Amino acid sequence: MSHGVLAGQRALVTGANSGIGEGVAIALGEAGAKVVVNYISGEERANKVVEAIKSNGSDAMAILADVSKEDQVQAMFKQMIDAWGSIDILVANAGVQRDADFTEMTLEQWQFVIDVNLTGQFLCCREAAREFIRRGIDPALSCSAGKIICMSSVHEVIPWAGHVNYATSKGGVNMMMQSIAQEMAVKKIRVNSISPGAIATPINTSAWNTPKAEAELLKLIPYQRIGKPEDIARAAVWLASDDSDYITGTSIFVDGGMTLYPGFREGG
Ligand code: NAP
Repeated sequence: MSHGVLAGQRALVTGANSGIGEGVAIALGEAGAKVVVNYISGEERANKVVEAIKSNGSDAMAILADVSKEDQVQAMFKQMIDAWGSIDILVANAGVQRDADFTEMTLEQWQFVIDVNLTGQFLCCREAAREFIRRGIDPALSCSAGKIICMSSVHEVIPWAGHVNYATSKGGVNMMMQSIAQEMAVKKIRVNSISPGAIATPINTSAWNTPKAEAELLKLIPYQRIGKPEDIARAAVWLASDDSDYITGTSIFVDGGMTLYPGFREGG
C-alpha cells in the first residue's frame, strides 16, 4: 500500500483521459489514491492513464460516462462504490468549448456547454455528497467526510468575448461551488475550485501551438510561461489532502498571474 498523503483514499476524476484531468488523475495516484478515470470518447487514452497510475503502484479503473446525463453519472458512481466501497475525493473536471460570436451562437452550442460544464458538475457533486454523507468521516483516511474539487477557469471572473457559453458556465461553477460548500460544511465536506489560466492541453491547442499564438498568449501571463497540467495537479493533490483542512468555498487561481490585469503594467 502507498504511504502517500492520500493513501487508501478513492478518487474519481471526470474527463481524466486528457489534459488537466489526466495530470490530476496521475498525481492523485502518485499520492496514494485509487483513481477512477472517467472519459466519454477516448477509451484507449483512458486505458493508458489507468496503466500509468497502476505502474506507479496505485489501483485505477476507466469508466465511460457522459457527465451531463443523470443516469450515466449515477451508474458510474454505483460502479465505483460497488468496486471500492466508497468515494473520498471528486474532481469534477470534464469540460468543453463550443465557441462562436455572440450573435451567431446557436441554442445548441449554448446548451451543450452548459450541460457538460455546469450541469455535469452539479450531477457529479450531488452523487459524491450523497455518498460522503452516507459514509461519514473515516478518521483512518481523512479528517473530513469528503473533498470536492470543481475545475473552474479564470473565466469565472474574466469575461470572454466569443465564448459567452463557456464563461457563463464557469461563473456558474463558482457560485455552485460556494453554495454547495456553505451547505455541506456542517457535514464536514470540503468543496473548492481550481481556476486554471492558460494550460497547454488539447482544448486550446490553437492558442499556443505556433510561435505567433504563443507570443500573443504570453502577453496575458505576467509569469511568462504557459501552464502545464502538472501545475494544476499539484494544487489538486493539496486541496484533496488534510493539509488543506479548514479550506472550503474557495477558488484557487493557478494562472501565472493572468487575473492580475496585466494590461495595467503599462496602461492605467
Ligand atoms: P481536454 O484535454 O479537452 O479534456 C477535456 C476532457 O473532458 C476530456 O477527457 C473529455 O473526454 C472530457 N469530456 C468532455 N465532455 C465530456 C462528457 N460529457 N462527459 C465526460 N467527459 C467529458 O481539456 P482540458 O484543458 O484538460 O480541460 C479540463 C478542464 O479544465 C475543463 O473543465 C476546462 O474548462 C478547464 N480549464 C482548462 C484550461 C486550459 O487552459 N486548458 C483553462 C481553464 C480551465 P474525451 O477525451 O473522452 O472526449
